[in-house]
Amino acid sequence: MNALDELTFDNRFARLGDVLSTHILPQPLDAPRLVVASDAALALLDLDAAQAELPLFAEIFGGHKLWADAEPRAMVYSGHQFGHYNPQLGDGRGLLLGEVYNDAGEHWDLHLKGAGQTPYSRGADGRAVLRSSIREFLASEALHALGIPSTRAACVIGSDTPVWREKQERGATVLRLSPSHVRFGSFEFFYYTRQPEAQKTLADHVLNAHYPECLEQPQPFLAMFRTIVERNAELIAKWQAYGFCHGVMNTDNMSILGITFDFGPFAFLDDFDANFICNHSDHEGRYAFSNQVPIAHWNLSALAQALTPLIEVDGLREALALFLPLYQAHYQDLMRRRLGFVSAQEDDLALVERLLTLMQHGGVDYNLFFRRLGEQPAEQALQKLRDDFIDLAGFDQWGQDYLARIANEDNTERTARMNGVNPLYVLRNYLAQKAIDRAEEGDYEEVRRLHRVLTRPFEQQGGMEAYAQRPPEWGKHLEISCSS
Ligand code: AMP
Ligand code: MG
Repeated sequence: MNALDELTFDNRFARLGDVLSTHILPQPLDAPRLVVASDAALALLDLDAAQAELPLFAEIFGGHKLWADAEPRAMVYSGHQFGHYNPQLGDGRGLLLGEVYNDAGEHWDLHLKGAGQTPYSRGADGRAVLRSSIREFLASEALHALGIPSTRAACVIGSDTPVWREKQERGATVLRLSPSHVRFGSFEFFYYTRQPEAQKTLADHVLNAHYPECLEQPQPFLAMFRTIVERNAELIAKWQAYGFCHGVMNTDNMSILGITFDFGPFAFLDDFDANFICNHSDHEGRYAFSNQVPIAHWNLSALAQALTPLIEVDGLREALALFLPLYQAHYQDLMRRRLGFVSAQEDDLALVERLLTLMQHGGVDYNLFFRRLGEQPAEQALQKLRDDFIDLAGFDQWGQDYLARIANEDNTERTARMNGVNPLYVLRNYLAQKAIDRAEEGDYEEVRRLHRVLTRPFEQQGGMEAYAQRPPEWGKHLEISCSS
């Protein structure tokens, strides 16, 4: 383990030059203090949890001090927002502080979100509020614990700095960790501004640093794009299987690594609703839950377009065509496991789809259903769960078909197996909101407790029953502000 001042930096992205990013220092927040830290994420930097308690920690991530070897940069990008191309985006409030090289030989980007204005702020204040910083922190670490690839979050720093949104709030930062902060939109920027050299520099960097296995392929860039398609197919399958709604799937919010990236008004489903829209400014439901699959494909097509100077079109088309079948295969595999099946049968997807339709009509809690289904022998579990459904005849028929389906399975260890894939604790919006309300009053205990619970989502934790309940009525209809 290292002390905070002993981090080793190797700033590969900064070395690519000023065309890809701009050097700029963080702007300090008033009275910075630790709100919450993730031991597991800090360990990626070889830092132990005690480091987060040091005054120096809040000073650094509150923008007051910096390592001599960090080289903070705002990265330039553009992107398709709600289907329309926006030619000029970039890190408007986040900074890549530098790349830390850890003892295991991994590089981790230290990205400080809420660090102040940059050349890409477009007139906005460069800040992030406490509420959205806590939400990003909790979601990153919760997704990771569920086995869903995501950027990580090492800490949230709160402050006294006033920040104006719908009302006055306070500024905060979240320290995000990821092997890369390159987005689909980074490639789009150099494509649409016709800068082929810079684009090649970026592509070479991503290939060498993040897809080295593709270097051995006959067409390395095509192999890299194919891998990006594969990773996204698996990622979106996980979102759909666990009921995660991202909310702002603009191409500038899509990571080149195929991991969950840039959290806004996201939500985990409480009651199952295929049409759920978590983003209140998404009036047409472009990013509704069930649209995430075609939208991911659309976003990959936008990336493919931007890569046409580097990769021939036929190859890009073939790779894009892999997305849907791969998505289906991953999704079916996950849903089979959630239902406790060991083997695969052809009509399993039909069984899943019938269940989702019944849930949709009944207003059934999505994640708890699977957990409860596995906790008892199937017949008893079905009997109990039945009460939640409206179409009782439909559910009884489904239950019979389900029992027939598992009759041929090896059902030893069924509960352990199903509990291992069906979380008891998910980051429900109302749980996050309760923790945020307390934190805004200066009490960070609830954020910390919720974070701890969510790091072990599959394990029943003593005294934590309240975190495994369906939301109260007020908690089902929370309007999460899109401003952040
Ligand atoms: P987001 O919706 O957070 O993904 O942000 C979209 C774009 O707006 C990115 O380029 C952000 O850096 C920029 N942006 C969002 N909020 C702010 C802010 N408060 N100040 C400056 N730039 C911002
Ligand atoms: Mg963004």
